[in-house]
Amino acid sequence: MENSIKQFSLPDLGQTLEHRGIPKFRAMQIASWLYVKRVRSFDEMTNLPSALRSQLALAYPFTFPTIADRQVSHDGTRKYLLELMDGTLVETVGIPSDDGRLTVCCSSQAGCAMGCLFCATGKQGLRRNLLPGEIVDQINVVGEDFGQRISNVVVMGQGEPFANYRNLMGALRILNHGKLLDIGARRITVSTCGIIPKIESFTLEPEQFTLAVSLHSAHQNTRDLIMPELARFPLSDLRDALKSYSKETGRRVSLEYALIEGTNDDDQELHRLVRFCKGLLCHVNLIMLNPISDSPFRPVSRKTLERWTGELERNRINATVRQSRGADIDGACGQLANSVLKA
Ligand code: SAH
Ligand code: SF4
Repeated sequence: MENSIKQFSLPDLGQTLEHRGIPKFRAMQIASWLYVKRVRSFDEMTNLPSALRSQLALAYPFTFPTIADRQVSHDGTRKYLLELMDGTLVETVGIPSDDGRLTVCCSSQAGCAMGCLFCATGKQGLRRNLLPGEIVDQINVVGEDFGQRISNVVVMGQGEPFANYRNLMGALRILNHGKLLDIGARRITVSTCGIIPKIESFTLEPEQFTLAVSLHSAHQNTRDLIMPELARFPLSDLRDALKSYSKETGRRVSLEYALIEGTNDDDQELHRLVRFCKGLLCHVNLIMLNPISDSPFRPVSRKTLERWTGELERNRINATVRQSRGADIDGACGQLANSVLKA
């Protein structure tokens, strides 16, 4: 697994080839075979010299995910359980829209170390980071299954993308590259729970990738309670980091807020959220909490949700309610947890 050809970002592949005395331009040819033409062996890479093909085949096992399970929701959303080369299972969701878009919600890690109390993935702990090519393959599996080009990618499946930053960026650049998957940077959204040093790195990246941050409470005590691993990154620092992000990039950040009954849904929480957002170039995505098993957390009523939307609007804070799709197949936000493992 460590040697898999999927371990490389484009620049890393170029460098590795150079160390072997092979010209760098071969990296793009190989990536194109891997991620556009999607061949299953080096032998099929017909524009490579045959000596190079055998050399690569010896050095880097050709790994490819297989679909271990696939569920289709009545709203058309499809959830896939993918088995990676080493048996690791990871979930991916394909979300079609009426306007013809097809969005993939992909995973960045198998499991997650952050342990947010309301999240099914958080309950599992981290199994491992995904390789750049393993992230890209998820998009390709969904595209192939739907027989349609992928228009949007959200890195909102299992795992904390910024805890696997290097591999994540390697994957995003393969997705974005004009000669590879050619998915526009603005159509690729990364959601982080708020790892500040990596928000700072992301701010400096040249591409226009979209940033979303899982806030879930603008009250330090509440946030520390429901997102215990994030307590080391205080909300005031998070806000500063987001302010610099907008200042440097001119882009606004999405704040994810899953309303949880009796936890982050009272007036004080609402006012703290308003205060957090004032002066910040942001957009609030209110999410109805999705039920996960063995959890005391419950979603709020429609009425509460409407009150929050209204109150945010009244304060001129841009807010929408995010429709979670595929809830009937446990494919909605925060529900991805490997049903097979659970069983
Ligand atoms: N680790 C990243 C990305 C994956 S989670 C992050 O936390 O941002 C994708 C989104 O689903 C996050 O906003 C997360 O907080 C949210 N989420 C987690 N559990 C949920 C649940 N039970 N109901 C609704 N949203 C949930
Ligand atoms: Fe990890 Fe995100 Fe779930 Fe928190 S919400 S446990 S960071 S996947």
